Amino acid sequence: PPVYVQRYLAVKNILQDERWHGKIKKVVDFGCGEFGLFPYIKHIPGLQELMTIDIDREMLDYYCCRAAPLKADYLDNRQEPLTVHVFAGSIADKDPRLLGTDAVICIELIEHLYPDTLEAVPHTVFGFIQPLISIFTTPNLDFNVLFPNFTGFRHPDHKFEWSRVQFEDWATNITTRYPAYTVKFCGVGQGPKGTEEHGCCSQMAVFVKLSHYTPTPLIHLASHHQDLEVEECEET
Ligand code: SAM
Repeated sequence: PPVYVQRYLAVKNILQDERWHGKIKKVVDFGCGEFGLFPYIKHIPGLQELMTIDIDREMLDYYCCRAAPLKADYLDNRQEPLTVHVFAGSIADKDPRLLGTDAVICIELIEHLYPDTLEAVPHTVFGFIQPLISIFTTPNLDFNVLFPNFTGFRHPDHKFEWSRVQFEDWATNITTRYPAYTVKFCGVGQGPKGTEEHGCCSQMAVFVKLSHYTPTPLIHLASHHQDLEVEECEET
């Protein structure tokens, strides 16, 4: 799939991880844009509330219909109802309605922010909201050499593009200021064979609250689940 879809799938896979089962009830998607992430995360088990926030009010007015239920949603009933809030606003705003959020998502957002707004991001996310998990993605500058005749930035609205070292520096600096969090990095969108040294097209930082951090839970859970017997449900 294209890289933007790989980013949505990566976020979905992380939020669906066994370790969060039933814990991700409220999600905030900052810089939601055209609601691209929405269909990928709306079926995460346990999800009850989604806040989609973007500074571009016109875009929200145009695309918010994408958050409406589809016909198929009425056939496949959810366990819990999902409430979607669409807000025009900035990630710099510490709105009390953000409180109680379990996961904060910022896909390809930070590179669009002016320095004062970028400076406010950790205050809003880690100081104010304090979610269990927060996922950021941004273009990987190291990868740009692979684009033919490339100059400048990937998008005219980008205020910067960071190398892997710069992004990791920004993120680990946040964990120094907010020691309740730990961060891990990965790449999204692999280049062709032989380009591995440049990393992936996008880079991702996953912040997890230390109180909920378990370094190697998956093998254990996977074998446990294989042992479980699946009971057949009778249709009622
Ligand atoms: N996250 C979406 C995705 O991956 O499909 C869209 C990413 S788009 C490249 C960046 C978005 O960030 C734009 O929709 C823009 O309007 C929004 N944005 C820019 N500054 C913002 C701010 N201060 N607070 C919230 N959103 C902002």
